[in-house]
Amino acid sequence: MKPSLRNTLSYCIAFIYIQLGVIKRRQRKLMNEKIIISIYFHKPSKSMFESCLFWLKKHGYTFISVNDIIDIFNGYKVFPKGAVLVTVDDGWYTNKENIISVANALNVPVTLFVTTNPMETGIGYWWSYVNQARKEGIYNKTTEFLKTIPNRERLVILNEIKSKIILERESLTVNEVIEISNLKNITIGSHTVTHPILKMCDNDESLYEISNSKKVLEGLIKKKIESFAYPNGNFSIREINYLKKLGYKIAFSTIPKYITEANILDIYALPRFEILGNCSLAENICRMTGVWYDVKLFKHNK
Ligand SMILES: [Zn+2]
Repeated sequence: MKPSLRNTLSYCIAFIYIQLGVIKRRQRKLMNEKIIISIYFHKPSKSMFESCLFWLKKHGYTFISVNDIIDIFNGYKVFPKGAVLVTVDDGWYTNKENIISVANALNVPVTLFVTTNPMETGIGYWWSYVNQARKEGIYNKTTEFLKTIPNRERLVILNEIKSKIILERESLTVNEVIEISNLKNITIGSHTVTHPILKMCDNDESLYEISNSKKVLEGLIKKKIESFAYPNGNFSIREINYLKKLGYKIAFSTIPKYITEANILDIYALPRFEILGNCSLAENICRMTGVWYDVKLFKHNK
């Protein structure tokens, strides 16, 4: 489906949801039951991110941090009603201006899950190379295909592509991540070294991705890295065991559900709703409130 057609169609669906009062009814439930809305962004515009936060503030939601969730899990804090956790994946270079400055100004806690290799080296994210190679006719398979093959095979293809294409930096720099980590509302978490599909990695690769990203970030920001987001939401029990062994306290998937008293017990597989950067605010309101995921009309990605 073309993006413009998809956005028009999704806007209509979101508009109908709002007009029928579905959102209002859901909000009453969210304010009165022990439910945490857990959301993640990638690289929204400043206006989209601001609009989402303004909407949540206007409707009375309370913003909580990953540390609050750890405290709730451990029984040090009561399970809240009408609470929202905001997270951001990858560490895109636009995040500083479009997300961090807004969160700081509005006093909203945000956890930024950083992929360390693009941050340290300045190379683009791997899927950007694939997309560019497809545009230039160098390679014809999709990023979705590359997510389904063993990691070593994906790296061979990727190295071949990288030898032919040069991309500009897409990630925040090391200095920016250090600067951001000093802000009181911001928590830095790990999103691996190279953003592979962990389930497609062998044991050594998976362990390296989870351990080295933590080591690099801790070395830079001089704080413990205790939170993790699985690239593409993919993980297995092996990854959970590595996270526990390495001292992580919490990890997020991309399973689109609320955090409840029941599933907070799976502290290494907490769900999140994806909020898009390029759709209507109406659709993102449906996504933030979870209404969007009642009917799986559109597949979620990364
Ligand atoms: Zn990611």
